[in-house]
Amino acid sequence: MIILEGPDGRQVLLADCWACGAAFEGHPETTAVILIDPATNLPPDVEIGEDRRLRLLTDRAVSAEDRERCVQMPICPDCKERGQAARRRLLAEDH
Ligand SMILES: [Zn+2]
Repeated sequence: MIILEGPDGRQVLLADCWACGAAFEGHPETTAVILIDPATNLPPDVEIGEDRRLRLLTDRAVSAEDRERCVQMPICPDCKERGQAARRRLLAEDH
């Protein structure tokens, strides 16, 4: 993830999307990032169940320790959209 400054002084962020790997550009302050736990390579509130499907850990608060271990990874707008849709689907399945 690098930040370039254009001739007009505006900053452009170049990053590789954590989810799809595509290079994309955005604004340093508005580009979405996702918290990833390096131990699982998943967001801290997501786990893979015994049936190999992703589950949201809605019933367990993510501990401060879990959160501290996490790193912020950039994601492209498409993946942000897909991620939010997947999260809504998981939430709907849970209830
Ligand atoms: Zn992506």
